[in-house]
Amino acid sequence: MIEITRIFSRFTWENAADILLVALIFYTLLRLFRGTAAVQLLRGILVLTFVVVLISNMVELTAFRWLVNNSLNVILVAIPVIFQPELRRALERLGRTAPLFGRRASQATTEFLVSELLRTVDTLSERRHGAIIVLEGATGLEEYIETGTRLDSVVSRELLLTIFFPNTALHDGAVIVRGDRILAAGCVLPLTQRQFADTQMGTRHRAAVGITEQNDAIAVVVSEETGIISVSRHGRIVRRLDEKRLRKILQAFYEPRRAAPRDER
Ligand code: ATP
Ligand code: MG
Repeated sequence: MIEITRIFSRFTWENAADILLVALIFYTLLRLFRGTAAVQLLRGILVLTFVVVLISNMVELTAFRWLVNNSLNVILVAIPVIFQPELRRALERLGRTAPLFGRRASQATTEFLVSELLRTVDTLSERRHGAIIVLEGATGLEEYIETGTRLDSVVSRELLLTIFFPNTALHDGAVIVRGDRILAAGCVLPLTQRQFADTQMGTRHRAAVGITEQNDAIAVVVSEETGIISVSRHGRIVRRLDEKRLRKILQAFYEPRRAAPRDER
């Protein structure tokens, strides 16, 4: 008891600030990496480190300890290399100050966008024209935009239908939309590594899941084979959407705050 009081009597506000600072750094890091594949890797590394430290402290294993001490340096160098994409994204996220377009879009723009996208998807589904439309969230998708053909034109049903018309130059690949503009078409997206039981989940659907695994974009997919409409967000895909559900998802994406109370009714 005396011991504890002694420790506390030496506890200054600087110590408190120190602990707070470290906690803040860890909190920020975890928030930045949240939802990325890096979290699993980090967890793996932490568990491994814990086990190794435990073993090497319990038993006197000189050669093993030598190996652990030396490999720590290697791991420190390896981490930035392994996590390069995540670190880049995290830094990008840190540097972003302006709110995302969608979050500050006027109500008129949002309504126009949602209705234009709904009408497009409806027609594509009816005609069985395969399509994948990615709506950019707060995280920039520049690296994927670069893989396609830049367009930078206002979202319109006619243009989207033309892009996805079979056997035309731009129909293969994804369209990327930022705010109310179609930035590019024919973009190549990363495929997810996950396995799906559903045999209808071919590369188009795997690309939709893949692109939304590491950021806050959403991907709307129209199946060429079945006309089924799906939406993927945070690496999860919802299939067989009707217009009502798709409208809700799109509205919630563009206006998270306004859509939320409406959902609860
Ligand atoms: P569908 O139900 O429309 O047949 P699917 O999930 O079965 O879709 P595929 O039949 O393999 O998938 O669809 C192939 C099409 O998906 C390609 O023609 C291309 O337009 C698109 N696609 C495939 N891979 C990618 C990718 N990495 N990025 C963007 N688009 C892709
Ligand atoms: Mg297919």
